[in-house]
Amino acid sequence: MDHVPPHPAGRPLVIERVAELRAHLDAARAQARTVGFVPTMGAFHEGHRSLMRAARGQHDLVVVSLFVNPLQFGPTEDLARYPRDLEGDLAVAAAEDVGVVFAPPVEEMYPGFPAPPLTTVAIAGLTDGLCGSARPGHFDGVATVVTKLFSVVGPSTAYFGKKDAQQLAVVRRLAADLCLPVKIVGCPLVREADGLAMSSRNRNLSPAQREAATVIHRGLRAGAELVAEGGERDAGRLRRVVANVLTTEELVRLEYAEVVAADTLAPLDVLDGDVLVAVAARVGDVRLIDNMTIHIDAEGAVVDLGVAVAPTEEGLCAAR
Ligand code: AMP
Repeated sequence: MDHVPPHPAGRPLVIERVAELRAHLDAARAQARTVGFVPTMGAFHEGHRSLMRAARGQHDLVVVSLFVNPLQFGPTEDLARYPRDLEGDLAVAAAEDVGVVFAPPVEEMYPGFPAPPLTTVAIAGLTDGLCGSARPGHFDGVATVVTKLFSVVGPSTAYFGKKDAQQLAVVRRLAADLCLPVKIVGCPLVREADGLAMSSRNRNLSPAQREAATVIHRGLRAGAELVAEGGERDAGRLRRVVANVLTTEELVRLEYAEVVAADTLAPLDVLDGDVLVAVAARVGDVRLIDNMTIHIDAEGAVVDLGVAVAPTEEGLCAAR
């Protein structure tokens, strides 16, 4: 990656084995060091960096996992084309003062791979709609790998981006339901200067597609304006305005635009409380997601579209 400042402490320790990571983190905890954990699939951008910075601001030792999890990709999805950049990622991790990068080979996480694991974690309800309907099995793959990673890393605080709003809801729920000793922190969605939500998959867009993809953010902004300034409280009309903007761009194919309750992800008729407006679209072969949340009460509407640049440690994350 460009512009990575030199890091005085050098590169993070790279660990590939579960037993080695457990031993290392047990020893750290025995010295009263706290562990902040950031699970990722690599190809780092400012969104990932903001999570690392949040973790570093609150913990002695930051562990970043770097694992492109085959279980969360469907048979026709982009597992083979998913961007990979280990050297670049290690430079970024060093610049963000990450202590350990856990980069397991696939057989370490799934012995016997490609045979499917016999034990998986499935979450009902929360995964029926939004990306769950378009990507059957995706969230079971996410829930399974996250549960395994939490088990390996042990007691910690884990940092997730609000960019993947449904994933964050799923992870919060599985940590609560399975009594996992992990505190989940949701961090702001980070955008490029022109509004496109940062994503590792943006690397796979052509210049024309990259330009066209900004329509996703424009659609959300149009919806935000309708609610915050126009006083709209009808979820269907909000949904249609967002969807209509997205269909103006020839290179972008809308998969869904949905308006749901932010915690349960249940579809809404009337806008009230914490509302999630979530969008998925295909630009060529690249599938992009984006969202905003709107808090609506008698006083009015407060829109959260994330941040345009990675913020500093202060006020970066809201733990819930
Ligand atoms: P990934 O490597 O795409 O699986 O993402 C790893 C973590 O980074 C997840 O918690 C994502 O939600 C988070 N993340 C990815 N993109 C962004 C973004 N643009 N802003 C904030 N967090 C992000």
